[in-house]
Amino acid sequence: SKATIGVTGLAVMGRNLARNIARHGHTVAVHNRTTERMTSLVEDHGDEGTFVPCETLEDLVAAIERPRAIIVMVKAGEGTDAVIDELVPLLDEDDIVVDCGNAHFADTRRREAALRDKGLHFVGCGVSGGEIGALEGPSIMPGGSDHAYQRLGPILESIAADVDGTPCCTHVGPDGAGHFVKMVHNGIEYADMQLIAEAYDLLRHRLHLSPAEIGDVFREWNEGDLESFLIELTGEVLGQLDPRDDQQAFVDVVLDQAEQKGTGRWTVQSALDLGVPVTGIAEATFARSLSGHAEQREAARREFADDQPQVDDPPGGQEQYVEDVRRALYASKVVAYAQGFDQIMAGSEEYGWDVDPGAMATIWRGGCIIRARFLDRIAESYSDDAALVSLLVAPYFADAVRDGLDSWRRVVADAAAAGVPTPAFSSSLAYFDALRADRLPAALIQGLRDNFGAHTYRRIDSGDDAFHLQWGGDRSEGPA
Ligand code: NDP
Repeated sequence: SKATIGVTGLAVMGRNLARNIARHGHTVAVHNRTTERMTSLVEDHGDEGTFVPCETLEDLVAAIERPRAIIVMVKAGEGTDAVIDELVPLLDEDDIVVDCGNAHFADTRRREAALRDKGLHFVGCGVSGGEIGALEGPSIMPGGSDHAYQRLGPILESIAADVDGTPCCTHVGPDGAGHFVKMVHNGIEYADMQLIAEAYDLLRHRLHLSPAEIGDVFREWNEGDLESFLIELTGEVLGQLDPRDDQQAFVDVVLDQAEQKGTGRWTVQSALDLGVPVTGIAEATFARSLSGHAEQREAARREFADDQPQVDDPPGGQEQYVEDVRRALYASKVVAYAQGFDQIMAGSEEYGWDVDPGAMATIWRGGCIIRARFLDRIAESYSDDAALVSLLVAPYFADAVRDGLDSWRRVVADAAAAGVPTPAFSSSLAYFDALRADRLPAALIQGLRDNFGAHTYRRIDSGDDAFHLQWGGDRSEGPA
């Protein structure tokens, strides 16, 4: 009998995804450019389900029932285009190509349009959870047509992570919507990690706790509102010793230059295009870049070696400070998610995707890197109020931020005084204060723009009409 679905590209991700599909009772045809990867998959794991080994793409296409569904899990970019180009001439009308790689959503939009013209369906599908997630249940964010989802949905939902009986997979929206949401997910992941890193740094420098002691703090935090995969991992990483000598803390022997594969940068670039202030994600992305500027860091470290601020220990003692940092972390995290969801809604509006934000929070509850207890609260907030303008003003989150506000201000002010860099904590607080301000100095910026460039301004009392003031002349105001 024919395979229900095919997978081409059997490196770590594709191999595990194919095994996951087979383990759920679907017959899966498997192919890889280098045949060795395909044969070793079938040899090592053939007993986990029904695999149909295919040596060529022609074999793969022939092995799958129509309309065909073929998952492409190859190196993103040129690899994906190469496979699509090879695959398309072999396919028949209504067949579905699913790109589960980390594609940029603009590439997905381009590929979807090209395949649609040929009577085919192209589904850009975000997959989060790394190699373990791929095998044991990832969070899956598929875009593409409704028609394609009808064929794919049951398979993808069966292999996705499951939280309280709900699969971490839903149809996100047309064309590039799935890859867009996956991109913002990764951006939020950057912000989450930066916030965690700042919390660690504060406890380290202001309380002089050891990494292992801070690991214990994180383990405790993981019992409360902050409960999440990344907080749990932080406890594990901070508790780890150098595997070479079992003496020093592991975190102290790791080079302090954070790397990136580019999805944070994509998120910020897209946010700039959409005009969405994702300050938390941007600060997190820039903080990684800064850490990599070794030469500048060394020069500045030497130049300012004697300028370390002399400050007292945080007032209120250790217990109070730990609690302040916990609350500041939670409030900043709410801001980061509020900004990420703003970007999802702006993208949805711009590209006509009609994304349901609550459903995105729901499918991130399991499988993915940012899985967290508070995603339930986000889903609830959107189901209580579908027209919510910002997560920050949803009753639950507004209360959470209000409760943490004094702590947040104390931590940011103290960090500035003590010279501990907290770009994400501080910028999140600044974002919050700017949003809730009566008046912003944006009015002055408009005045300056009108003065030097006749860019015009609108008045508080004259609707949308634009005016220009005769700065160099009689200072009268006229219509633009
Ligand atoms: P890689 O990104 O390392 O890609 C290797 C695979 O791509 C191999 O199967 C390789 O075939 C194939 N390939 C590369 N170029 C071509 C080409 N021109 N034609 C045909 N096949 C090609 O594999 P991963 O498993 O790490 O990742 C797969 C995708 O999943 C990527 O897009 C990645 O970004 C994404 N992803 C990865 C995650 C991870 O944690 N690793 C998490 C989520 C998504 P061959 O064996 O012949 O060289």
